[in-house]
Amino acid sequence: MSLERSQIKAFRQSQKLADRLRELGNAGKAGEVGACGKFWTFYVCHECGQFCYLAKFRCGHRLCAQCGRKRVYRLLESLGGVLNEIKNPKLLTVSLRSRPCGELADSLRELWAAFARLRHRAIWKKVNGSIVSLEITYNPGSLSFHPHLHILLDADYIPWVALHAAWVQVSHGCGNAVYIQKCRTGWQRELIKYVTKVADLLQDLEALREFLRATKGKRFIRTYGTLYNAGAEREDVSEVPVCSGCGAPMHLEQECVSITLLGVNRLDRVKVGECEYGNQFHGPP
Ligand SMILES: [Zn+2]
Ligand SMILES: [Zn+2]
Repeated sequence: MSLERSQIKAFRQSQKLADRLRELGNAGKAGEVGACGKFWTFYVCHECGQFCYLAKFRCGHRLCAQCGRKRVYRLLESLGGVLNEIKNPKLLTVSLRSRPCGELADSLRELWAAFARLRHRAIWKKVNGSIVSLEITYNPGSLSFHPHLHILLDADYIPWVALHAAWVQVSHGCGNAVYIQKCRTGWQRELIKYVTKVADLLQDLEALREFLRATKGKRFIRTYGTLYNAGAEREDVSEVPVCSGCGAPMHLEQECVSITLLGVNRLDRVKVGECEYGNQFHGPP
């Protein structure tokens, strides 16, 4: 899928989220999410002709598909160097049994508590550092939540059998899945796409209400050991984008380009002033 199409798809999903938030009586948040990525500022590099669009406003909502994309890009960028340094990266996934609606807050508490106990086990001595990312999936068929942890390990060999046994113990028998794998290409993305299948959640107003309540103010990513604070969010220093082609500061060409213009007219037919530059599109950031 092209960048602009996936951007528009993400925008539509944000609009859906805004509708649901309005139905839940949260007009303020709904307004923010609804405005996210609606208007873009058009920048051009006068040195080499590269151009890009930057969103005028980002809502930062946890379930906003557009902000999720941006968060993934930023995290990958800030983690890049650290991740490449790890000699033996492994991905571990641990979970507890799925729980019916109404028990999400409890199951989150239990999941993190079980993980804390795991970290104090002898087997965890082989782990030098880890990045843990919480993912919560919702199954609209069985009306149940399935929270689980994706854990990037900087560790030497860990036998699966011992790990599995330890997880069953620390979860008091409620742990039902442990996967460990060597990292393949693209695993970084896997690690941090921590809220997936938002569409499932948007179908069910009560489930959405519970999700928002149970996760309010909670962190979805935690870091330990050698990876402590890796990829901590950094604030953007400058408002003016720098050209990805030549590094020169870019010039503002037009404000408030509507996303529908990006979608309906397609970028190669958007005429902005005398601009005759190529039709490259840079998604967020
Ligand atoms: Zn957003
Ligand atoms: Zn340039």
